[in-house]
Amino acid sequence: MTTLTASDPGRTTTRTDAVVLDGVTKTYASKAGKVDALRGITHTFAASTFTAVMGPSGSGKSTLLQCAAGLDRPTKGTVLVAGTDLAKLNEVELTTMRRSTMGFVFQSYNLLPALTVFDNVALPLRLAGVRPGRRDILTALAEVGLEGHQGRRPAELSGGQQQRVSIARALIARPQVVFADEPTGALDRTSSHQVLELLRRSVDEQGHTIAMVTHDPVAASYAHAVIFLEDGRLVGQLQHGTASQIAAMMSELER
Ligand code: ADP
Ligand code: MG
Repeated sequence: MTTLTASDPGRTTTRTDAVVLDGVTKTYASKAGKVDALRGITHTFAASTFTAVMGPSGSGKSTLLQCAAGLDRPTKGTVLVAGTDLAKLNEVELTTMRRSTMGFVFQSYNLLPALTVFDNVALPLRLAGVRPGRRDILTALAEVGLEGHQGRRPAELSGGQQQRVSIARALIARPQVVFADEPTGALDRTSSHQVLELLRRSVDEQGHTIAMVTHDPVAASYAHAVIFLEDGRLVGQLQHGTASQIAAMMSELER
């Protein structure tokens, strides 16, 4: 694995850039013809920032996240995560890289139903070949407000609690970046607030980096920055926007 530094010719990435997308294009070939899901996205997700990715349904938000996380390969353009060009990695190296540098939070939680809460949170460490410390897991659970729940199974928890388990799981291996796709999409308002507060706090207090896809302006307002996608293009950005400013920008773009 190569790590690019500021001294590499032609590259200006630095340690403070968690994810750098440069001219990222993704074209899907389907039976109905070609779909240009991303049309040349250039954006830097700086370290220790919480960024929301917004845009109408079908604008390319999930594709952007998938390409940034190396779950999908761009048709054109480059993706650097923590200085590493994902295109230079084979599938095995990509998997190793994902396990060591990325965390994931999904709308549907994606917890393993047969495992306890403890073992779900410990899983990324086990997959990375690290023996999970019992105290570390219990501390991670306490940080998401789930002390005493380590022996339960996911089905015995509410949606909001399950999502908080998945956040503990995403953060346990101290990843360089956490990707979250509609993490509050299935939650009620109170649970959403708890989850978003937790994500924001993990950035402000522990220096994590989060890229979160959402179509909800209230959810996006918990982020430091919002980027707006439309039809596969980056069409706007907002720093420290309120929910109503973000909503106004959305309706502007949809016009
Ligand atoms: P969003 O998350 O913003 O709703 P997506 O990134 O899921 O948008 O999709 C962007 C566009 O790419 C849409 O037109 C979608 O239908 C298309 N698309 C996404 N994934 C695939 C795929 N695997 N095969 C073909 N088309 C796809
Ligand atoms: Mg999506």
